[in-house]
Amino acid sequence: MDKLLDVKNLEVNFKTYGGTINAVRGMSFDLDIGECLAIVGESGCGKSVTAKAIMGLIPCPPGEISGGSILFDGTDLLKLDRKSMMKIRGAKIGMIFQDPMTYLNPTMTVGKQIEEVLKKHTNYTKKQMTERIIEILNFVGIANPKRRMRQYPFELSGGMRQRVMIAIATVCTPKLLIADEPTTALDVTIQAQILELIKSLQKSMDTSVMLITHDLGVVANMADRVMVVYAGKIVESGVVDDVFYKPQHPYTWGLLSSIPTLELKNKEKLPSIEGTPPDLFSPPTGCAFAARCAFAMKICKEIYPETVDLGEGHHCACWLLHEKAKNVRQSFNL
Ligand code: SF4
Repeated sequence: MDKLLDVKNLEVNFKTYGGTINAVRGMSFDLDIGECLAIVGESGCGKSVTAKAIMGLIPCPPGEISGGSILFDGTDLLKLDRKSMMKIRGAKIGMIFQDPMTYLNPTMTVGKQIEEVLKKHTNYTKKQMTERIIEILNFVGIANPKRRMRQYPFELSGGMRQRVMIAIATVCTPKLLIADEPTTALDVTIQAQILELIKSLQKSMDTSVMLITHDLGVVANMADRVMVVYAGKIVESGVVDDVFYKPQHPYTWGLLSSIPTLELKNKEKLPSIEGTPPDLFSPPTGCAFAARCAFAMKICKEIYPETVDLGEGHHCACWLLHEKAKNVRQSFNL
């Protein structure tokens, strides 16, 4: 497959009165055409900051992209000026946010908000724009689009507002769709419908999808590959089956064991990962998960582990995979 996105050594910081937060610390990953890559991790791990860096939406200051490159369709997005980036955002890269009410304009009708995008990125006539708005609203499953396009966001249900946001993000048929926790604010049945919609858009438009989520159920249902992020770094990545069935990183083990299963008895507590992520004002030099890891060794706190290639695109950064840690693995029966 051909690469659509190639991110190398991305570093994003935020300067605050309390010091500099190292939100993304040297992330490298890529995304193929038509592929769905999920990024999972706890709140504050750098998932959304990475997405915003790709979209050119990091507010500078206080934000700063201090290193790396983001090659999109052969162009380094970090080298583009504001005007050129605006041409790409909304046309070639679309983004769906978690809470449509925050991102939709409450004072404009649904139709006008979609029209704004078409005006910016196409030379359509008024008639062509109206036709396209009706077509995309139909496509995202909004019945009676002629009436809906004249309505305001507050007149729509949560699920319908999310569909409108998807319509705005996809009306120009983007090559990349970034979905940041697209179903968190919705109830379960609507969640499933929205995920199905994203899947069908991905197929019909041959769009690549970068899905940011903390829900591993969503990952299993949607993604081809998954990237587990902790404290601004990728700790494990690979095709979904490898990461789910042959996980190698203790943080991934923790995430997977906290998924509810049918075996869970009444009132039985779901396992959780004890402790909290490290302070990113001064991230640890060694493995950032060491303070919460039951298998941490002396070296874990001193030196960051190298990323090990486990084959078939499966990678993991953990000292347990070092050949000299064989006895440790045996002692824990790993
Ligand atoms: Fe645990 Fe060490 Fe692996 Fe980090 S490197 S996850 S502390 S065993």
